[in-house]
Amino acid sequence: MGSVAAAYAYLASRGIPAQAVLPSIYPGFLAFLDPADNPVLIHRDSPRETLEAISAADLMVCLDFNNLGRTEYLEEAIISSNAVKVLIDHHIQPDADKFDIVFSQIEVSSTCELLFKVLMQLSDVDGNVDRLPMQCAEALYSGMLTDTNNFANSTWPSTFNMAADLTARGVDTARIRGNIFSSYTEKRMRLMGHMLKDKMTMVPEMDAAFMLLSNQEKQQHDFKPGDSEGFVNLPLSIGGVTLSALFTEDSSGEYIRVSLRSKGQRDVNTFSRLFFNGGGHLNASGGRLYMPLGEVPGYFIKSLKEYGK
Ligand code: 5GP
Repeated sequence: MGSVAAAYAYLASRGIPAQAVLPSIYPGFLAFLDPADNPVLIHRDSPRETLEAISAADLMVCLDFNNLGRTEYLEEAIISSNAVKVLIDHHIQPDADKFDIVFSQIEVSSTCELLFKVLMQLSDVDGNVDRLPMQCAEALYSGMLTDTNNFANSTWPSTFNMAADLTARGVDTARIRGNIFSSYTEKRMRLMGHMLKDKMTMVPEMDAAFMLLSNQEKQQHDFKPGDSEGFVNLPLSIGGVTLSALFTEDSSGEYIRVSLRSKGQRDVNTFSRLFFNGGGHLNASGGRLYMPLGEVPGYFIKSLKEYGK
């Protein structure tokens, strides 16, 4: 959402007609990034308009995914489009041959950081952060802040340089931090308490912990998209836990969403590719499981033992 909103704001500020599109809705706490003059089209809400926008484009900037499958229902429209396709992404092993121009770097905090580097090199910006529109600067800062979990992980010297530049640009960092990290609903906070107290299972012999979230529990807590954002990080605050997993039943009931986090060199990207039909980064990955939620604990523990520490 941060990189999409930032790219849109930059293009709009240069008078280039642009439309931001996403496969599915963003968490409510990111609504402040949605451009007021031209809201993001969400495929799940407006499928026809979203696909029309894709087929009308002559330039497509694809942000923050390494393979087109991650765009779900947009994949076919993107492949069949004749637009020039640019990928800007920080995941490993990008599907580079599907794009005309690829900016791919994993040694950055976020796609927003890489997009910041790209924008700063454009001739009309020429390294001068004051030439980025404020909405763009704020969105870049937001994406960097969420991906680093408030500067807690994936920070590089370039991350702090970018934060310094954007702060000098006048980005209201306190407001953005408040929007992202201090805007929970009471229901979300209580769900977090429930997950920690009643749903966290330790696997001490594998230095791991996991939580399950069912559709029934989501209903009981009036669950909204994004309400479980960050839950998977919580068990990593326990000394000795170096891998954490959150398994969430999708509202369709068709699959279980998998979220994995780790510390240090413990590689959840490979773990996810091998056992959870997914991927991501060394310390943060995701995927999907196609089995009843009740079978997940057994499968997870077996996979942990097979993969090792
Ligand atoms: P999250 O746990 O926040 O959903 O995802 C963490 C990271 O894993 C993100 O960088 C995301 O791009 C990646 N990821 C999440 N789900 C999938 C998936 O189904 N497939 C792949 N390849 N990557 C995923």
